[in-house]
Amino acid sequence: MLYSRYFIPTVKETPSDAEVISHQLMLRAGMIRKLAAGIYNYLPLGLRSIRKFESIVREEMNRADAIEMLMPSVQPAELWQESGRWQFYGKELLRFKDRKDGEFCMGPTHEEVITDMVRREIKSYRQMPVNFYQIQTKFRDEIRPRFGLMRGREFIMKDAYSFDVDSSAADQSYEKMYNAYQRIFERCGLNFRAVEADTGSIGGSSSHEFMVLADSGEDAIVSCDACRYAANVEKAEARPFQAVTSTEQLPLQKTATPDMKTIADVAAFLGLTADKTIKTLVYSSGSGEHVMAILRGDHELNEIKLKNSLGWDEIQMATEEDILSITGSPVGFLGPLGLKEKVTVIADLAVQTMINVVIGANEKDMHLVNVNLGRDFVPDRFVDLRNVEAGDACPRCESGKLEMWRGIEVGHVFKLGTKYSQALNATYLDADGKEQVIFMGCYGIGIGRTVAAAIEQNHDENGIIFPLPIAPFHCSVVALNTKDKGVMAAAEEIYLKLEKLGIEVLFDDRDERPGVKFKDNDLIGIPLRIVVGSKGLADGNVELKIRKTGEVLLLPIEAAIEQIRQLVASALTCED
Ligand code: ATP
Ligand code: MG
Repeated sequence: MLYSRYFIPTVKETPSDAEVISHQLMLRAGMIRKLAAGIYNYLPLGLRSIRKFESIVREEMNRADAIEMLMPSVQPAELWQESGRWQFYGKELLRFKDRKDGEFCMGPTHEEVITDMVRREIKSYRQMPVNFYQIQTKFRDEIRPRFGLMRGREFIMKDAYSFDVDSSAADQSYEKMYNAYQRIFERCGLNFRAVEADTGSIGGSSSHEFMVLADSGEDAIVSCDACRYAANVEKAEARPFQAVTSTEQLPLQKTATPDMKTIADVAAFLGLTADKTIKTLVYSSGSGEHVMAILRGDHELNEIKLKNSLGWDEIQMATEEDILSITGSPVGFLGPLGLKEKVTVIADLAVQTMINVVIGANEKDMHLVNVNLGRDFVPDRFVDLRNVEAGDACPRCESGKLEMWRGIEVGHVFKLGTKYSQALNATYLDADGKEQVIFMGCYGIGIGRTVAAAIEQNHDENGIIFPLPIAPFHCSVVALNTKDKGVMAAAEEIYLKLEKLGIEVLFDDRDERPGVKFKDNDLIGIPLRIVVGSKGLADGNVELKIRKTGEVLLLPIEAAIEQIRQLVASALTCED
């Protein structure tokens, strides 16, 4: 490709509306341009990386026996009503009507459409296992689209759906996809972890997220320093503390805590640490039900754990009016003792081991001191409710401690069980001619998000450092002085020879100063670069620069070509 004939509109200044580095660099490198919030044009360079990643995904899906197809973006409301998600999916689902007043949505995911196809076409156990995938445009009307392709509203996803005769066959299909995902992200040279995850609005029994590690990641994840346990903090289990039994229970007292509304204020006022206090939170289901959650003062409530333990579809903080009528107290002085209205009280497991604690007295400016579980109150249930923290004991092994990371979720695999097949009545006849419900799994990869995450993980002050397998070009050839016929002839010869070897080359033939060319080449992150200048050429040499290490080798032309061939071949090799 000739740079002069191509279209790479690079930008010097950092765009002010881009918060994370990958978004800044994708704009600056001329890979993407915004059309509307969360909706982007993929410019030629951006599209090349996207396509590169798509082919890796396609190869690995095919290798894992998934079968490619393509479903429409527009989906009829009826299917979503059948699965129950027309109600449940909320505002992320972009809904509209056609000219006949028929209701439709833009597909945010395709469980309904594929299950509808399968219930019509798959009738016998002989047709399974089967796994269909597509690489297709999704639309989700995200509340806060941001970070460029990382959280768009319109974005490209690879989604796959497996269909099996029973749960253990479905586990095998899941395993195959899990392994394919490992290969995909390894082939891209990314530093990632597969972690246990919550199933969210997709549902199902269990799931793993594939997380690219990056400080800017929106997700907090933990991994054990001794065993293989790793989980999203949304899901990570807290190991219960050992009970302390030797401390004497002191008499309960009520004490004034004027204007002390936060845990930190109360603890400081009473001369205690926060772990001697209990925090009380009241939540509502959105449809009139309430629950009180209590946790150790220094712990953080995990709303997803609370929501899952209640089996609610939605969870939100209770309003001040509701809190007042349930407890008789303004926020800041709440507790589980002496409530005005009956409300379920759920305590975090860590509360079980606390003795002589401080709790709000359900009275303005008052707290209770030396409250003891069992003696003074009994919660309705103990549940693991808190977010785990760095240094917590691993929930799986005896010796490990949890380490914390930030991650970008690039892929998600789910065991769905029969959630969608049951709702849409997707059944088959088994070997005895009996009708059975199909078991499903679903598997997503964010294509644009992965390319953005790769940049988030691989860049320096000069720009992107693409991992070679998803770089828009493997190599660039920079002619230093385009007026010099010898330089141009040598550069062109190298360019053509490399292309013949199947290497993707961007030939920087622009009539620009070397400084401009180097800056652009660094910014767009092509992994390998050959620089042809008159000085080196006088000795028959060119410069080979490796973007990642900054290493520069002075080599005879043929040796440079051979070196590039080898570097590209080794970066693209994937072991069986
Ligand atoms: P998130 O929690 O980040 O919103 P999700 O759990 O909603 O993600 P899934 O429904 O599992 O995502 O979708 C599969 C994959 O699609 C995700 O792992 C992610 O890589 C990608 N993805 C999801 N939402 C977006 C988005 N708004 N923009 C770009 N990619 C996305
Ligand atoms: Mg989402």
